Amino acid sequence: MGLGDEIMATARARRLHKSNGYPVCVVGRNGAPRWSPVWENNPRIVKTRERRCNVLASGGGAGRPYIAAKTSRAWRWKHWEREPGEIYLSDQELQFAEPYAGFILVEPHTKFAWSNKAWPIERWAALVRGDESRYIQVGPLGTTALPWVRLVETTFREACAVLARSLAFVGTEGALHHAAAALGVPAVVLWSEFISPEFTGYDSQTNIRHAGPACGARISCRGCAASMLAIEVAEVAAAIKAKL
Ligand SMILES: [Zn+2]
Repeated sequence: MGLGDEIMATARARRLHKSNGYPVCVVGRNGAPRWSPVWENNPRIVKTRERRCNVLASGGGAGRPYIAAKTSRAWRWKHWEREPGEIYLSDQELQFAEPYAGFILVEPHTKFAWSNKAWPIERWAALVRGDESRYIQVGPLGTTALPWVRLVETTFREACAVLARSLAFVGTEGALHHAAAALGVPAVVLWSEFISPEFTGYDSQTNIRHAGPACGARISCRGCAASMLAIEVAEVAAAIKAKL
């Protein structure tokens, strides 16, 4: 269960909360309440089951709204009611981000280096080249920075705070593109053949994808790699420029 999934859960929690006014308790497959730092300060989500509350099964083995089926080789995706989620940052978190306001937040990394979602690191480096001072990166200790790009060591919530104060976001499909949608930050998102915006994207974002039907491959996929190579640096640069 990734952080992006926890953000998507907040959109579903909002819908439930608005439907009847009761708070939402998120549970796993075993029915036990779950908690994520992503939900901190979210007034709709409670940590324990209350007498009157909505129960939302999400994460902890309870499945994900955009997954129809899974085999050893691939996911099969399904449509659901996609909406931006919510992240409630504290004043302290926003204060942390204040010195890093006004940059373009770039996320060149994917959760796994071999990922079918990854764009080659040389392309990321080429994207920022000559413009390094306009960009910023975030991540935990050990995160690799692009040459000459400022990297801020952050928790995920601190990363969201920096994102909230950024001019725009550029990255692949992942936790931060969900966070950008939740925080209303203009975003350019690079997609491979693996999945598509119709399952985990947002209409408000600029989605760049040069591929046919989503493959969902759980093993290294040539089609995914080829689709990412089809995304040109100039095309991404132009999309970012249009967002500013
Ligand atoms: Zn593929």
